[in-house]
Amino acid sequence: MISIMYNQEQAWERYASRCNMISTLCDKEGTMGSIDFMNKVYRGVLDQWAFRSYRGPGNLGTVEDLLRRYEELLEEYPPKELEALGGIPDDMIKKMGGMGLFGLSVPEAYGGLGLDLWDQLKIVEAVAGLDMSAALAFLAHLLIGIKGIELFGTEGQKQRYLVPAAAGDMIFSYALTEPKVGSDARHIETKAELSGDGSHYVLNGVKTYITNANYAQGMTVFAQLDPEHPGFMGAFIIETAWDGIIIGADMPKMGLKSSSTAMVRFENVRVPVENLLGKPGYGYTIALTVLNYGRLGLMAASSGVTKRSYHDMRARAQSRIQFGVPIETFPLIQEKIVRARVHGLVMEAMNYFSAGLLEHDTEHNPVIETSHCKLFGTTKAWETLYDALQVAGGSGFISTQPYEKRMRDFRVTTIFEGTTEIHSIYPSLFAIGRIAKEFKTRQRFDKWMYLVKEFVMSFAPMKWELRFDDRTLNKAVRLAQSHARTIRRMLIFGLIEYGKKIGNEEFFLRRISTLSMYCFGLLSVLAKISADRSAGRRSAEDIRLFSYFIEEARTVRSTNRHFFDAKCERLISDIFGALS
Ligand SMILES: Cc1cc2nc3c(=O)[nH]c(=O)nc-3n(C[C@H](O)[C@H](O)[C@H](O)COP(=O)(O)OP(=O)(O)OC[C@H]3O[C@@H](n4cnc5c(N)ncnc54)[C@H](O)[C@@H]3O)c2cc1C
Repeated sequence: MISIMYNQEQAWERYASRCNMISTLCDKEGTMGSIDFMNKVYRGVLDQWAFRSYRGPGNLGTVEDLLRRYEELLEEYPPKELEALGGIPDDMIKKMGGMGLFGLSVPEAYGGLGLDLWDQLKIVEAVAGLDMSAALAFLAHLLIGIKGIELFGTEGQKQRYLVPAAAGDMIFSYALTEPKVGSDARHIETKAELSGDGSHYVLNGVKTYITNANYAQGMTVFAQLDPEHPGFMGAFIIETAWDGIIIGADMPKMGLKSSSTAMVRFENVRVPVENLLGKPGYGYTIALTVLNYGRLGLMAASSGVTKRSYHDMRARAQSRIQFGVPIETFPLIQEKIVRARVHGLVMEAMNYFSAGLLEHDTEHNPVIETSHCKLFGTTKAWETLYDALQVAGGSGFISTQPYEKRMRDFRVTTIFEGTTEIHSIYPSLFAIGRIAKEFKTRQRFDKWMYLVKEFVMSFAPMKWELRFDDRTLNKAVRLAQSHARTIRRMLIFGLIEYGKKIGNEEFFLRRISTLSMYCFGLLSVLAKISADRSAGRRSAEDIRLFSYFIEEARTVRSTNRHFFDAKCERLISDIFGALS
C-alpha cells in the first residue's frame, strides 16, 4: 500500500509541477495572506470571525443619490438609442465622469468618491438592472481596468494615473485575452523585453475582445517577461497615445452594442520601467487578483438583472388573465417567480459575504469564493432571464419589450472573466492543489497517514458554534456540514484515485465545485440572516425564501456526491469517440 502511495505521490508531484493551473494557484496561495474560508470549511472549521463580519452596503444615501442621477442620465440618453448608435457619445462619457462614475472606488485622495466595495456592488447591481451595455464603460474601467493600479500601484503611478482615471479623463481597459489564448491565460504570447540600459520594456503582441478599447486612454496590459517560463509576467500601465499601439474598429456583437470591444496591437511599444505594476514576474498574480473584483461585479450585475426580471414577472403574472384567472395562479408560473426571488437573495448574500473576505486583505485571494459567485450569479441570472421572457409569453419575444435586449446583453457574462466551464473545475482544482501541497511537504510514511487521517476525519461530526432558535436555519447548518464532509472526502479520494490525471476528470471536479458552491451559498445566507438578526432586522421573509434554497441544495447534493461518474457522463467519451 505504501509503495502504491509512493508511486502516486511521485506521479502527483510530476503532475503538479506540470499542471499550470494547480501549480499557479498553489504558488499564489502560498505567497498571500488568507482567511481561506471555504478551505477551512472543507476541514470542518467555520471561521467565526469571517462569518460574523458579514455586512451589506452602508453608505446608502450617496448610493441612492448617484443612482437617481444615473437614471436621469439614461433618460437623456436612452439605452435603445445608444444601441442604435453603437456607442456612447463623448458628451455622455463626460457627464458620467462629472458624476464621479469613473472614480467610485478611487480613494478621495486621488479625486475619487472612495466608496467601499459593498457600496460599489450595490451600484453595479442597480445600474446593470437598468441597462448593462452603457454601464460597462465605467464598470470595466473600475472593476478591472484600474483595479491593478489601485491595489498594486506605487504612489507615483497612482498620482499619475488614478487622478485622471477618477475624473473620467483617462478611461482604462484590462488587456489579457489574445487571439490564440483565452481561458489558458498563463500562456499568453504578448512579450515584454527589458531594454539593454534597463530604462524601458519593449512590448509586442496582440490582444483581443478588449472592453473599452476605443474609449480608453490607458490600459493594464499583461505580457510574458521570460519565454522560458510561461506565467512569469509583467502587468504594465500603458497610454494608448504612445507610438506602436494600434486599436482596431469595434467588433459587431450580439449584445452590449454601446460598449466598445476591439483588438489592440502592440508593435515595439516602449514602456518605461516605472510603468510596471508590482515586481517583474508578478503580473499573472495581479491579473488573477484583479479578476476577483470583476467576478464580484458580475455577480452584482447578475443580482441586478435577476431582481429586475423578478419584478417584471410579478407585474406580468398579476395582470395577464388566462383561463379566467391571472397567470400567477398557476404553479408553473409561481415556481419561476419564487426561484428568481430566492436566487436574488442568495446572490446578494454570497456577494456581500465574499466582499468581506476580499476586503479583509486586499492581496488576499478568495478565489474559491469569488469563482462560486461568478458561476452561481451568471448561470442563475441567465435562467431567470429565460423565465421572465417565458412568463411574458409571445410579447416577451417582441423587441419593443425589454427581454430580448437584456438577454443579448447578458449572454456574454457566462464567457468573460472565466467561462462557466472553467469556474466549474477551478475551485476544486484549487482545493486539491492545496491538499497536494501539504501532502508534498510530509515525509513518506507521514504522507500516507495524512491522507488516511484526512479521509477518516471527513466522517467526524463538525463542531461549529452555530445554533439558531429556528429549525430551518439549523437544518441549513447541518446540510452545509454534510456538503463540507462530502467535499473533503471527494478531494482526498480524487488525489488518491486520479493522481496526475485529476485535471482530466472534469465531471468529478465539477461535482465537487457544485457542492462547494451550494455549501458557500448556504453559509452566506446564514451569515446574512445572523447579521440581520443581530442588528434587529426582521428575517422571517428571508428564512421562508431560504427554505427553498435548502431543498435545492439537498437535491444538488444527491446528484453530485458520487465519487464515480454517472452512467450518462461515462457514456460521453465513448459516444464522442464514435461520432461520425
Ligand atoms: C464582449 C466581450 C468582452 C470582453 N472583454 C475583455 C476584456 O476587457 N479584457 C480581456 O482580457 N478579455 C476580454 N474578453 C475575453 C474573454 O475574457 C474571453 O473570451 C474568455 O476568457 C474566453 O476565452 P476564449 O474566448 O478564448 O475562449 P476559449 O478559451 O477558447 O474557450 C472556448 C470554449 O472552450 C471551453 N474550455 C476552455 N478550456 C476548457 C477546459 N479546460 N475545460 C472545459 N472547457 C474548456 C470554454 O469554457 C469555452 O466554452 C471579452 C470577451 C467578450 C466576448
